[in-house]
Amino acid sequence: MKKTYDGHVVVLPYPSQGHINPLLQFAKRLASKGLKATIATTHYTLSSITSPLVTVEPISDGFNVGGFAQVRSEELFLESFKTNGSRTLTQLIKKHQTTKNPITFVVYDSFLPWALDVAKENGILGGPFFTNSAAVTAVFSLIHGGTYRLPLRLEDCPVVILGVPPLNLEDLPSFLNVPESHPAYLKMKLNQFSNLDKADWIFSNSFQSLESEVVEGIREQWPAKLIGPMVPSAYLDGSIEGDKGYGASLWKPLDDGCTKWLETKPPNSVVYVSFGSMVSLTEQEMEEIAWGLQESGFCFLWVVKDSERHKLPKGFLDLTTQNQEKGMIVSWCNQLEMLDRDSVGCFLTHCGWNSTLEGLSLGVPMVGVPKWADQLTDAKFIMDVWRVGVRVKVDSVTGMVKRKEVVLCLNEVMDGGERSMEIKKNVGKWKELAKEAISEGGSSDKAIDEFVMSLKDTCN
Ligand code: UDP
Repeated sequence: MKKTYDGHVVVLPYPSQGHINPLLQFAKRLASKGLKATIATTHYTLSSITSPLVTVEPISDGFNVGGFAQVRSEELFLESFKTNGSRTLTQLIKKHQTTKNPITFVVYDSFLPWALDVAKENGILGGPFFTNSAAVTAVFSLIHGGTYRLPLRLEDCPVVILGVPPLNLEDLPSFLNVPESHPAYLKMKLNQFSNLDKADWIFSNSFQSLESEVVEGIREQWPAKLIGPMVPSAYLDGSIEGDKGYGASLWKPLDDGCTKWLETKPPNSVVYVSFGSMVSLTEQEMEEIAWGLQESGFCFLWVVKDSERHKLPKGFLDLTTQNQEKGMIVSWCNQLEMLDRDSVGCFLTHCGWNSTLEGLSLGVPMVGVPKWADQLTDAKFIMDVWRVGVRVKVDSVTGMVKRKEVVLCLNEVMDGGERSMEIKKNVGKWKELAKEAISEGGSSDKAIDEFVMSLKDTCN
């Protein structure tokens, strides 16, 4: 006999690593609570998702072969995704309508608000999943509501949001002072709120103790349920049977012996370095970071994507190949597995929201080197609010980090001094709170249960 479910949720991520990971994790969580969960994703990301808990089905963004590589501009991509995505999501919903498990809810990435229109046209419920911090969402919500006008100028600062320290330009999502530099991205961020009043639920990948005040402050405009951190459970509760990975990788995770290598290192002695899936550093930035790592004297494991490798300074690669005692470079890895090792004592990060949550949840002190978008605000919180790390100061003219600053910050976090001890204590606290939120009966777990129960009620 076929299994019966309490409802069927289709989950639609934006097709990038930092969006697929938390949405897939949410889909898995819903499946573990008795719902049928289907991930609807673009053709070229389809094969990168493997999870026994969820079904994966294709929808189209109009670039079925080759994906992003063919896209001439972000604007064209978003337009094409809207048209083709709406059409194919409708087909997907209709296909299931006559089955035993018709789709009852569409959870969509907040970057894709047209999915709510599709849900409503087909008579089903829907709600967005926000993949940024609540603080970043609050900034865009206030801009959308007209409290702040763009471009933001120096005299508009500090921007004041309840529950958030005063934010200066360098703490705000980049390009708000030059909105014309990223028009499509900005439009997408503001469009998140376009039809929010029609949403049946709003989900946010954050948790109560982390951002409750911010959420309270914008509850009227954004009545979100905090259901995070969406980090696989094995890393939160340390259970061997638990969920060990997101189950999605757009690049092949290579171990290249780095797990073994990490095992040979003493506790808290290695710096894990990653700039996520999207950031592209200039050659000069790569050079400063490379020599900064080298000069710091700490061991390091650095993720440098193949497409970025040519930017490494001459001699540095040879140095790491010859002296594997000190440093390793890998093109892509299972980040969670690396952060989970006792030998990793610091995470030099671009402060993407997933990486930030992973650092917090696994209790790893951070050095923030934010490059753009929400990363700047996340870095501010890492340093000044949660006090789980430091943020590098950049050169006021070039906006670039210098190697001396890399060394200084790594020492501050790793040297066992007063600041370093305070940071360690704080990450320990946040690790516990993250675990508490998502464990049975925790604030995020309860919010998820509430959602699951509501679907059960509509089904019966
Ligand atoms: N990640 C990974 N392996 C790597 C580097 C990154 O699995 O070598 C994952 C990381 O765990 C995180 C995601 O990629 O979940 C990156 O998301 P984030 O929001 O931090 O940054 P983005 O890539 O969106 O800028």
